[in-house]
Amino acid sequence: MNHSTPEQPADVVARLRATFRSGRTQPLEWRTSRLKQLRELLSTHGEDLAAALHEDLGKSSTEAHRTEIDFTIREIDHTLEHLDAWLRPESAPVPAHLGTDATAWTRYDPLGVVLVIAPWNYPVQLLLTPLLGALAAGNTVVAKPSELAPATSAALARLLPRYLDTDAVAVVEGGIPETTALLAERFDHIFYTGNGTVGRVVMRAAAEHLTPVTLELGGKSPAFVDRDADPAVVADRLVRGKFLNAGQTCVAPDYVLTDPATARALEPELARAVEALFGADPSTSREYGRIVNERHFDRLGALLDSGRTVIGGTSDRAAKYIAPTVLADVDPASPVMREEIFGPILPIVTVADLDEAIGFINDRDKPLALYAFTESDDTRRRLAAETSSGGLGFGLPLAHLTVSDLPFGGVGESGMGSYHGRYSIETFSHRKAVLEKPLR
Ligand code: NAD
Repeated sequence: MNHSTPEQPADVVARLRATFRSGRTQPLEWRTSRLKQLRELLSTHGEDLAAALHEDLGKSSTEAHRTEIDFTIREIDHTLEHLDAWLRPESAPVPAHLGTDATAWTRYDPLGVVLVIAPWNYPVQLLLTPLLGALAAGNTVVAKPSELAPATSAALARLLPRYLDTDAVAVVEGGIPETTALLAERFDHIFYTGNGTVGRVVMRAAAEHLTPVTLELGGKSPAFVDRDADPAVVADRLVRGKFLNAGQTCVAPDYVLTDPATARALEPELARAVEALFGADPSTSREYGRIVNERHFDRLGALLDSGRTVIGGTSDRAAKYIAPTVLADVDPASPVMREEIFGPILPIVTVADLDEAIGFINDRDKPLALYAFTESDDTRRRLAAETSSGGLGFGLPLAHLTVSDLPFGGVGESGMGSYHGRYSIETFSHRKAVLEKPLR
């Protein structure tokens, strides 16, 4: 029997730091070949990962590919295409007092050893997208998948070492004790995705070593529906965004904010859109996911009577199934409005007009995303200027995060820092100022 002791966090970090110090991770060629290896893993083992995602979250294979595997492949391809240009030094004008022969520029230095801590809801995408950004920027990486998606965590721990050098990328599986032990080590950057309570734990641990952090958190993302928007179109798009992954999406529309007449027009359209997407009985739809565990199932169950049920409201604990649910006449003080829902429940809250909607949004924590459905330029302009959120989506929920050239991240309670595309290079590098003055 093999009784090998798992490597201690200090040894893992020391090993990766030695690799970083060797300078091996610096050349562009090293970085791009790691990205290609990761791409190879995803294209060869897409089905293994999809099976693990189905086991953990009941994700359909189509959804697993679209939102996790192919998403990450697209991000790799985009990075491979542009990395050389992103890394180019940028020259800066030199002031006259330094003489005409002086030159100045910035260069992107990798940081060193990066820790990536991922959540369970998109356990492939949210581990590998930061990981590939950190590698592209020339770092070594400790990757900590979520223990709440155990099949995916195991699959990643098995596959990553087969495709990426183990002295540059280490996978550490585990829950709170393992993560706490990791966080005691000194990293050069910590990239955390998850909830704000743990975000604070991460930031406190990072403060000990003055380690910079990126916190990709969540919150209640509102969807404002203007009275001029076509309710059928709005309902179709809201339902697709809300009930993807059974509502367990950080940028899912959390609740609808609209005036009473529009709310009444939306109700039957939302019910129609749910049926059109998942059939009369969504529990039999292969495209509809399950709640991650009993704890979240019970938490969500307690929110189901926060309003008048328009559609759904049923659940089955043994199957961890909660029907796609729309609640109307929801009181802003009710339980469903007091926390991020992170499940398949869509409350409709009414306000008199745009002014009241803007006030409602600004009275609460800054959301990760704000969505609005409106035909009015003026309304779009006002929402953009008068509210603050991580991202802003007009007419289509979730889509902004698929644009690799946009930064993805939160603000205030929804997080700090951003990534994707060149923003990952910014996050995982130090922009070093260089001045050169000839000696003669
Ligand atoms: P989770 O429970 O999987 O936790 C995330 C990570 O934190 C895991 O790897 C876990 O091991 C670790 N962790 C948990 N407790 C810890 C502790 N005490 N000390 C150290 N590490 C600990 O995921 P979650 O937090 O339930 O995820 C859901 C939340 O994440 C939601 O709020 C959601 O909006 C947010 N989220 C944000 C994004 C984004 O990109 N901004 C993406 C997905 C999810």
